[in-house]
Amino acid sequence: MSDLLNAPLSEVDPLIARAIDDEVARQAEGLELIASENFVSEAVLEAMGSVFTNKYAEGYPRKRYYGGCEFTDVVEQAAIDRAKELFGAEHANVQPHSGAQANMAVLLAALQYGDQILGMNLSHGGHLTHGHPLNFSGISYKVADYGVSRETEQIDYDELQRIAEESRPKLIICGASAYPRTIDFERIGQIAASVGARVMADIAHIAGPIAAGLHPSPMPHADFVTTTTHKTLRGPRGGLILCRAGAEGAIAKEVDRKVFPGVQGGPLIHIIAAKAVAFGEALRDDFKEYQRSILANALTLAEELSAQGFRLVSGGTDNHLVLVDVFMGGKGVTGKVAEKALEAAGITANKNTIPFDTNKPFVASGIRLGTPALTTRGMGEEEMRQVARLIAAVLHEPESEEVRKRVSESVHELSARFPLYPNRLRQRPPEIEAMGAD
Ligand SMILES: *Cc1c(COP(=O)(O)O)cnc(C)c1O
Repeated sequence: MSDLLNAPLSEVDPLIARAIDDEVARQAEGLELIASENFVSEAVLEAMGSVFTNKYAEGYPRKRYYGGCEFTDVVEQAAIDRAKELFGAEHANVQPHSGAQANMAVLLAALQYGDQILGMNLSHGGHLTHGHPLNFSGISYKVADYGVSRETEQIDYDELQRIAEESRPKLIICGASAYPRTIDFERIGQIAASVGARVMADIAHIAGPIAAGLHPSPMPHADFVTTTTHKTLRGPRGGLILCRAGAEGAIAKEVDRKVFPGVQGGPLIHIIAAKAVAFGEALRDDFKEYQRSILANALTLAEELSAQGFRLVSGGTDNHLVLVDVFMGGKGVTGKVAEKALEAAGITANKNTIPFDTNKPFVASGIRLGTPALTTRGMGEEEMRQVARLIAAVLHEPESEEVRKRVSESVHELSARFPLYPNRLRQRPPEIEAMGAD
């Protein structure tokens, strides 16, 4: 075992080592426009790959069910303190393994089985965990939903008020995964207060701009705030819950108890270490600059896509993402075709339904594009214009091999000018190279 314990991955498991090398190359050589993805720093990767993966630490700092948690407590307490500072929260739970599990813990803390909830329709930009019938949230609670208006394709707050009065929810869930506009958390807080509901704001997508003060914060208006840590926040894959402490810490205690032992066992301390590092990075001044660039890049991308003849859902963007109607009532291509054609040219994006979509979700009429990942690489507005033109070239002739080839070449040139993880791009030994074609 001691030999195995100290051998490098390429010797122990060449198949997995090669897949990792291939993935480094794929990320470095393509253009990543998936709005929910980003590239973490080497420091975050280092913390994730640490020996904290070996540690059991059920419980919370200074109240553990296991011994040997001295350094674990340092890590988790730092993550908690930094998260609270970053978002101005009284309480933070950094243990949720994912955004979905953060939401599950809050729903368990705020509701009884069968209670009424009100969430944003998935096909208008919401999330599965906000009440979709196939998700735990839709299985466990009665669900009413709200969406955007047909006219503006922005959240219809008057209708939200009406539906809230009609359905009398215990909890209103806001936040979205494909909504390009500012969310009026204050208004949603007022609506909730008017019907005696509580509010969960799921800021998974916009946590970065909120932390940087570039999107209004839900903290003063929501009872619970949940987020992922791996999207605009640029941390490791994971979840986070923020809330008020409550009288004698009652709310904080209830949330903590629903995360553990409610829905999880041992926390992922290596991931929590990486969350602490990412929150530390987000507290630095240059993080604000980074978030500003994400938004400026999204605006430019939106402008140039419009100029190239595409219809943008809601007419534009206030945040890091653009929802493009590529189908345009049948004049264009489906989201499914668009996603495939772009991928073949080295541009990664995802198909997405648009509000009142006439295509099935798996086909969809739109694609969702986001700028966090490319902005991390250092790309700016000039590159965004170029990217928009490359996307347009592919989508205007999705079947053309020639266009695909030409765009692929531009993609490689562009990505080479903005290196990603240069120290991880491996020169592969010939015997591994021979295992498969590239
Ligand atoms: C991404 C996302 C989630 C879920 O995050 P996972 O870590 O994939 O579980 C939840 N809510 C919203 C709004 C999201 O965009």
